[in-house]
Amino acid sequence: MAPASSECVRVVVRCRPLNSKETAEGRQKIVDVDSQHAGITLRGGDTGDAPKTFTFDATFDCGSRQRDVYEDAAAGIVNSVLAGYNGTIFAYGQTGTGKTHTMEGVAGDTELQGIIPNSFEHIFNAIQGSANKQYLVRASFLEIYNEEIRDLLSKSPKDKLELREHKDSGVYVKGLNAFVVKSVAEMRNVLEVGKKNRSVGATLMNQDSSRSHSVFSITVECVEQGPAADGHIRVGKLNLVDLAGSERQSKTGATGDRLKEATKINLSLSALGNVISALVDGKSGHVPYRDSKLTRLLQDSLGGNTKTVMVANVGPADWNFDETLSTLRYAHRAK
Ligand code: ADP
Ligand code: MG
Repeated sequence: MAPASSECVRVVVRCRPLNSKETAEGRQKIVDVDSQHAGITLRGGDTGDAPKTFTFDATFDCGSRQRDVYEDAAAGIVNSVLAGYNGTIFAYGQTGTGKTHTMEGVAGDTELQGIIPNSFEHIFNAIQGSANKQYLVRASFLEIYNEEIRDLLSKSPKDKLELREHKDSGVYVKGLNAFVVKSVAEMRNVLEVGKKNRSVGATLMNQDSSRSHSVFSITVECVEQGPAADGHIRVGKLNLVDLAGSERQSKTGATGDRLKEATKINLSLSALGNVISALVDGKSGHVPYRDSKLTRLLQDSLGGNTKTVMVANVGPADWNFDETLSTLRYAHRAK
């Protein structure tokens, strides 16, 4: 049975360590994480303001290890994808707070690799350990910039792709590559190719990749073999999303194309927040998937019997007070 929608959405917060620049500048740490009670407290702001405490499904302090974050935030979703359900993991937060560290981390380093490479190992370990089942794994990798979709695994990654809807199979990206992948090494290769295309494309198109969403999707098909075989194919899809930076560009005095871009990012992040809060709320029958490319694309992986985790990333330092508060509020609304 599908769990109640609020059980389908988990929101966790991770605070990165002070970096060397912040330490050298004598920045104050204004974030306290109480991981035992899944709490996080923000001090400071206008003088005299009381500290603000928020509670989530889990919180991770600056000493948390990649493995701990994986076990809490990702392992359950990956297991349900292996069982034929869809799931999505988002990294949200201001640029520089650790979204890419959380999602990718340091490739090939068992301590420092993030959710995406850890999920590769989880999936192929599970496949190798299962008897009487045959699996087919496919990967695709795209980016959404200015509400335009591009295939990061394409030979012509500048081409814009369209979202289409099929009456049976639902929403899909027309022409998106999906490569069959047979091992962890092949998965890592797909990730590397896509990352390279992303940075080359960004340079060619004079864009800043912190302003785009990237979506790495893994589809796992499974069919039972042997005496229990019923010919039924189970399909689960895992979406691993590194969101555009949530900082408000309006404050940076952006103009022209940069302002247009900022407006679209704010729009798509708020559309995502609205979808998640409608799902958590469970009461409003209407979930506004159609308000952005990202939520339309992920429609079949958000809500229903799917699982969603949002990892909200924050920095610990005083100069980030406003953005940190805004991230905690956004994440709390999604809870
Ligand atoms: P974002 O993707 O949100 O812009 P990054 O993941 O690129 O941020 O992180 C910015 C910098 O901080 C990187 O150098 C990254 O290695 C470092 N960093 C982020 N989170 C952590 C963490 N939890 N522990 C150690 N270093 C981190
Ligand atoms: Mg990043």
